[in-house]
Order: sequence, then structure tokens, then C-alpha cells
Amino acid sequence: MLILFDIDLTLTNTSGAGMKALVDAGRELFGPAFHAEGVDFAGRLDPLIIDDLLAVNEQEATPHNRARLRATYRGYLSRRLAAPGTAQALPGVLDLIRVLRTRETQTLGLLTGNFEETGRMKLQAAGIDAGAFTLAAWGDHSPITPPRRDHLVPVAMERYFEQHGRRADPARVTVIGDTPHDVACARAHGCRSIGVATGRTSLDELKACGASLAVRDLTGTQMLVSWLEG
Ligand SMILES: [Mg+2]
Repeated sequence: MLILFDIDLTLTNTSGAGMKALVDAGRELFGPAFHAEGVDFAGRLDPLIIDDLLAVNEQEATPHNRARLRATYRGYLSRRLAAPGTAQALPGVLDLIRVLRTRETQTLGLLTGNFEETGRMKLQAAGIDAGAFTLAAWGDHSPITPPRRDHLVPVAMERYFEQHGRRADPARVTVIGDTPHDVACARAHGCRSIGVATGRTSLDELKACGASLAVRDLTGTQMLVSWLEG
């Protein structure tokens, strides 16, 4: 059984540090007018967010501009996350992970729009042990252009196959996330989803977009573990 967790507003709340650090980086590289107005961040892949930021700031999405925005973002994020109180694990997360990682039948993974280096920073800043997750599909792992979150589910399932020598049954793969994008990528591959209303999408909206289960937060450890194992 494979359980794939989103990071932002599912496992962690980093007080918008990611968006702010991307703007910091853009200002350093492209000037003080660099902004994020009109760019949608929730549930999206970092490579797409970077391209959108470059576009709204009338900068070309060249490999050079993408790479230096990514690299500069990393430094600013590290500094922002170091400020006390910026990053927290969301309610129930630490307990749920603690219980799930003791279950031999469960493989925990990450399926996230974050780049690996900055996704790991957010987990660490929130006190979440990245070692609990034995596989990951990161935001730049989509093998198809343009990248889409949907592509990351097969990437995660391929990693599972490499580690276990057998295919994961999609009906026994669960994606946990806070946005309709998380739910949609699960549905696209016949996987289950838990929509968690700790982001900007309400419980009713998560239900309406087809989450297999929708919850207010991840505090119901026993209920969630039973559901996941059922
Ligand atoms: Mg999220």
C-alpha cells in the first residue's frame, strides 16, 4: 500500500515563505518591481510557478533564467524558514506519520510540486523527518512537457516498483493533499485521495471535486489509519 503526501498546507504551513522567497529571488535578479500578482501557487508545480513568475514580470523563460531563479530562491527560502515561528507541521501530521511508519504494509512517499532541495527544507523546518518517506515524486520529475502534477503519480508508482519488485495496485495508492489538483492527479490514475481542508480549499469543495475522503485536518489518526488500511 502506498500513501503519497503533498507538502504545502498538507504536511506543513510555512507562512507563505515559499512565495515570498521566490519574490525575494526575483527582485535580486530582475529588479525591485518583480512581483507575484496573478500567479497561482496552490497545488501547482514549482517549474510552472517559475515560468508564470517570469511571464508576469516580462522575463523570458530561458533555461538560464529558470535555473538562476531556482538557485536564488533556495537561499532566500532557507533564510525565511530560519525565522522562529515560520514553519510548523499541521495538526495531526506528526502523529499520523509516526503511526503509519510502524506499519510494515505501508510505504510512505511524497508527491509534491516542490523542487527536492526546497521541499526538504520545508519539511525540516517544520520538524518532519523526511526519512519517513521512502520515495518521492518532486515538482520537476514530470517526464512530459509541459509538466503536470498528473504525471507524478506514475513516477511515484515506478519508484515503488523499483523498490519492491512488484507493481502497486492503483486502488491501494492514496494521494493526500489540500487542493483539487491533488485529488485530480489521484483520480486520473484510479487512485484514492484524502482531501484535507488545511489549505485554501474548503471541505465541501474537496468533496465536490471527488476526494474519496475529505477531512478538516489530519488529527483523526485512528480513523485515518483504519480508512487507509480498509
Ligand atoms: Mg498543497
